[in-house]
Parts: sequence; structure tokens; C-alpha cells
Amino acid sequence: MRRGTLTLQARFVFPVESPPIEQGCVTIKEGRIAWVGPASEREADIDLGNAAIVPGFVNAHTHLELDPLEDGDRSGLADDMVSWLRRVVGKRRVTTEEMLRAAAVRNLASAIAAGTTLVADVTSAGASWDAVASAAVRGVVFAELIGLKRERGLFTSETAWQWLGKIRPENQVVACARPGLSPHAPYSTAGWLYHKAAGSRMPLTTHLAEFPEELRLLENRDGPLREFLQDIGAWDDEWDPIGPRPSDYIRKGELRRADWLIAHGTYLDPDDFWQLRPEAAPDGERVAVAYCPRTHARFGHAPHPYRKLIDKGAIVCIGTDSLASTPTLSVLDELRFLHGRDPSIPGGLLLAMGTLFGAWALRADSTTGSLKPGKSADLAVISLPDRDDRDPFLLLFESTEPVDSTLFEGDFVAGPRVGE
Ligand SMILES: [Zn+2]
Repeated sequence: MRRGTLTLQARFVFPVESPPIEQGCVTIKEGRIAWVGPASEREADIDLGNAAIVPGFVNAHTHLELDPLEDGDRSGLADDMVSWLRRVVGKRRVTTEEMLRAAAVRNLASAIAAGTTLVADVTSAGASWDAVASAAVRGVVFAELIGLKRERGLFTSETAWQWLGKIRPENQVVACARPGLSPHAPYSTAGWLYHKAAGSRMPLTTHLAEFPEELRLLENRDGPLREFLQDIGAWDDEWDPIGPRPSDYIRKGELRRADWLIAHGTYLDPDDFWQLRPEAAPDGERVAVAYCPRTHARFGHAPHPYRKLIDKGAIVCIGTDSLASTPTLSVLDELRFLHGRDPSIPGGLLLAMGTLFGAWALRADSTTGSLKPGKSADLAVISLPDRDDRDPFLLLFESTEPVDSTLFEGDFVAGPRVGE
């Protein structure tokens, strides 16, 4: 954490919770934001020039341990979800723990260089924890629970709880990394694992309503997913789904009494959208949808209902998903892609989806996610194009200019000023 005071000036400052400031400054003191306002009121220590200062990005869904699939980058092409799953499972079976750890270190570094300061990462057996806990980043690392068959489910839950025992704060003091649990998906994970996760009082994430085959399996217990599960030896004839709809997995009975970060949610029933509003939570639980725009596009899904969810009052944040389905771990790249697909989405909302909303979903919004005095100085500096625009958000999103620097707790942790 930076000692002393530092004032940064840039062509635009985007606080997120208030309008953009042209020629703005951010003053950092003891690692926290001390002041945000116009440059006319402060003397800057560093003038970043034609750049924007935004809150550090929040990647609300990724798997740092996964590398691109060997068959090359097929992003942008419609891909069959079930055959993609076959390739991921096939690759996972020949991947060692060492490979997972190395991938997590490498991929996290690329995410931080892309301006990420908070990451929601799903780990298969805790392999990414050390990378997240030792890097200049905030993170929630969710241990995966998976298995329709009882013995497989028991194995993954024992592995997860062993990992939790090992990393508990009494064993390791890690302020910026927190553990969570991730029942993988309704089609792959027995109902008792969802209940066990919900009873843990920990942050939870799950892949939900990701593709139509999942709905078909829950309703009819058949289709291509069942064939896939049978082929890999994961199908259980005794399988008893929590309910016929994906939303049953987070709404039924005591399952409601947990924080749920829903990965994807593309095929959620629109009748359920209003139930995802923060006001609908029985006890202040936080439910949000992590939309991964480029991964979504690559599979040729039905349009994602993010606008309808937002209109109903639900919180939608942005994830990249893993490098097995998206070309980079850059939230800014996702936001630019989404803006290209939907230019009508207001720039302020888009930036909040990539920052504050993810922080809210991960219960980190009192610490990070917007530029506000008292919050941690977790920032991304983005180069801006040499042009003017009536809407300053278009300088961010209608541009290919890169993230120049990332600051975490007031320190430059990526970019040309590291160590300054
Ligand atoms: Zn995922």
C-alpha cells in the first residue's frame, strides 16, 4: 500500500457513481482515495495526459486455471456447447495440478495488466488460491463442487472442505482473498451439494440456465447432455433434480438464504427476473447475474436478457469466463464488445456493470468498485483516442486503446510506472 499522498490527473475521470469529470484528479492517501474532483482545484503529481482513470475492473466470472483449448481460438464462431464441454473435460483429464497453478499465475497477471482489481475465480481444487492470495488483487476464489453420482460429489466436497481448512484465516492471514463455493451447474451437480453449499454461509456462484440442453435435461432427463454425461461416466440413474427449472437451484427453500452469483443465466425464465432484485432477497442476500458477452456470443445462444433483467431491477455484472471460451481476460474488451453489439446501452451503466455491480455482488462495494473518498485506490488507467466526443464514455468504448496502468491500493501494479 502506498504511503503518503499522490494526486493523478487525466483527461477524464470516471467515478461511476457520479458523472465523468473532464480534466479530473484523483488524490490517493495511504492507499485510499482521498479526493476526486476537477484538476483546477488540485495540483497533480502525475499528469497522465490523454487517458481515463476508472475504478479497477471487476471480473465477475472466470476460471484462471483454464488455458485456451488446443484446437485454437474459435471465438466468434458459433460453437456447439456440448462438444465444447467434451473438449474441456478431455483437456482437464490430462492437466496436472502444476499446470493448473502455473496457468492461474500467468492468466491472473494478464487480467491485472488489463485493469482488473477484483476477480471472482472458480477453482477446481484450490489450485488458483495461492496465485490470487499472493497477487496485488482482490479475489473471491470459489471451490468447485461437482458430481451427480454420490461418490463423485463426496470426493469434490471433501476436497473443497480440506482446502477451506488449509486456507482459513487462522492458518493464513490474507486480507484481499476470500474463499467461496461453486456448485458447478444443475446438470452436473447433485442437489445435496447445492444445499450443502447454501448452508455454509459462504459466497456462492453457479453456472445457471446456460444453455437449452440444461433446461431439457431438468425437465425431461434426456437430450444431448444426458448422452454426454453417460459417455464420460458421470450420469446417475437415481438423479433427482431440485426442480424442473434452473432457478429452483437458487430459490427453493433454504437455497434462497445465500449470496448467489449466477454465471450466464441466459435461459432464466423471464417470470423469475423480478425475484432476482435485491429487494426480493429475504434477508439482504445478494443475487446477481454475471454475463460474459464474448463467451455468450461464441456459442450462438439466444440473445442474453441482461437489459430485461436490469429493467426488472436485477444486478447484472460482467465476467470474461475462461480463456477456453474468450480471447482475453479483459473486462474492458468485454464492455467494448457489448457496446459494439448494443450501442444503445448507456455508457455509465456499461461501466458500472464492469466495476461497481460486480463489487456489489461480491460484497466488496464498500471497499472498491467506484472512485469515492474512503474506498481503496484500485484504479485502471486507459489511454484515450485523439479525438473529441460529446459522450465521453464513447472515448472508452469506441476505441481500441489499451489499459496503460493498473493501481491496487494506490500502488502501480501493472504498466510502465510499476515501482514508482
Ligand atoms: Zn464458467
